[in-house]
Amino acid sequence: MCGIVAYIGDKEAFPIVLKGLKRLEYRGYDSAGIALINNEGIANFKQKGKVSFLEEYAEDKDSSGTIGIGHTRWATHGLPNDVNAHPHLSGDGKIALIHNGIIENYDTLREGLKARGHVFHSETDTEVLVHLIEDIKNNEKVSTAEAVRLALNNVIGAYAIVVMSIENPGQLIAARKSSPLVIGIGKSGDFYLASDATPIVEYTNEVVYLDDEEIAIVERNKGLRLYNIQNQEKTPYIQELELQLEALEKGGYEHFMLKEIHEQPRSIRDCFRGRLNVDKGWVGLGGIKDYEQKLANANRIIMVACGTSWHAALVGEYLIEDLTRIPVEVEYASEFRYRNPIISENDVVIAISQSGETADTLAALELAKSKGATILGICNVVGSSISRITDAGSYTHAGPEIGVASTKAFTAQVTVLTLMALAIGHRKGTINESKFRRIISELELIPDKVAEVLRENDHIEHIASIYKDAANALYLGRGNSFPVALEGALKLKEISYIHAEGYPAAEMKHGPIALIDEEMPVYVIATKGTSYEKVVSNIQEVKARKGKIIAVVTKGDTQVKGMADHVIEIPETDEHLVPLLATIPFQLLSYHVAVMRGCNVDQPRNLAKSVTVE
Ligand code: GLU
Repeated sequence: MCGIVAYIGDKEAFPIVLKGLKRLEYRGYDSAGIALINNEGIANFKQKGKVSFLEEYAEDKDSSGTIGIGHTRWATHGLPNDVNAHPHLSGDGKIALIHNGIIENYDTLREGLKARGHVFHSETDTEVLVHLIEDIKNNEKVSTAEAVRLALNNVIGAYAIVVMSIENPGQLIAARKSSPLVIGIGKSGDFYLASDATPIVEYTNEVVYLDDEEIAIVERNKGLRLYNIQNQEKTPYIQELELQLEALEKGGYEHFMLKEIHEQPRSIRDCFRGRLNVDKGWVGLGGIKDYEQKLANANRIIMVACGTSWHAALVGEYLIEDLTRIPVEVEYASEFRYRNPIISENDVVIAISQSGETADTLAALELAKSKGATILGICNVVGSSISRITDAGSYTHAGPEIGVASTKAFTAQVTVLTLMALAIGHRKGTINESKFRRIISELELIPDKVAEVLRENDHIEHIASIYKDAANALYLGRGNSFPVALEGALKLKEISYIHAEGYPAAEMKHGPIALIDEEMPVYVIATKGTSYEKVVSNIQEVKARKGKIIAVVTKGDTQVKGMADHVIEIPETDEHLVPLLATIPFQLLSYHVAVMRGCNVDQPRNLAKSVTVE
């Protein structure tokens, strides 16, 4: 959460930092700010609300300067208002700082600083850090960079920070622990710093990802120096970015979310690339090749994730258990890390995270690693923290996902898990050759079938117009469609603010059935397969209570069509692959409901895309 951007070079910093903040706005959007150094000293612009408000606010002001730092906030400490917005300044106004993360011991530090005469204006933990740097600098008579290092040695918590000071107007100091930070090396001695590479890609493709407890000092025309927190100099590892600029634009769609929903035929196909060969009857994930045997021999696979990724993990549980016969447990990362889990060296822990920066998931992995488990990652963002700390992993290759509500990243995660289950099952011999061949042939057809579901858009929009005002919704599914129900409900909650619950269809009668009346839309996944007849009975139970049934069915189905108020048809496929198709109508439905209700689809209230705080 929070997006940070900074620039130092020979160009005007304000427009570069502002544009970068717009690209990072998916990370937080309750306030924004930019500080610059110019002839006046530090000019600090801060505004509650979106980055565009900041832009308007600064329009008639002097925003000159070739060094600047900017921030788009997702508040953790203190209300989203102008004062709490970053950048924060030291007491003497000479040092400015932006921060992503949480300073956990901020209270103790603040009390100490107050006792030494510091006065605080905001409620944030961040302001404490900049005062601490100032305090150390003045008392120890050290450089700003050294004061930053010493201050960070006193900090407990998570941070990515960028600091600039009037005393060194040609220098930016950056550091990270648990929150991401990447430095782009410009072509003319300039530097671009940001939470992820999206603000950087249009200027350079040479980047350095900071590691935990590293401090970087970048100086105009002088270059980049890297230190660890103990002050030992390190050699920066320069990587080449593969991100394309077009992937960051809306490409003619009204919202990123809609664009990303429609990208799924391509993103799923990209996910197959080099990993699936139907003619040769082969599936493999290069990234985990050396760990396939370890996976095949694992006593247990534990998947840790949060939010939508947790739903993908649940789909993975069905796939892996069925196709490999290895027991799988799916855990909320935030619960796993605090409950002293039993983990052994024969366990494989797989973390799933779109951003690869999810704080709870990262911490869960670290815990698993410390207990000797093999740790693998499934992430979308290349070079992210999870991809760097894991023993091995597979990228989802979905391309940048900017809409806060995840869509294409989810189907790509499910695709990777499907490939993984097939590869291990094939190696172990728990799937026979003909079943394996049948599933992979079907898998290859999935992108075209997703495109077919997307052609139902107008029909789904019509259904959305009927139920857009319902205050509640139930989503039901069985087997691997149960996580699809959970994900359907989450999408509706996230972007349209309608209360929705996902349930295993059979569980409905143990509680939620009490909620059903003629006002309640009940979305059911009733595709052909093992539990079809059971789901049909559940639909009857809903009908008997006058609930409205909107069913996702297999093309050509007549039985459910006869009972449901509306059906949405999806093409027939192998039962293991149904989640990849059944999830699409719910994405579109939530999207249309949210648009009709006037909600901000790409930036839903209170949410942020990359949850880098606990
Ligand atoms: N803790 C800081 C604040 O509330 C930064 C929040 C974040 O990174 O999400 O301002």
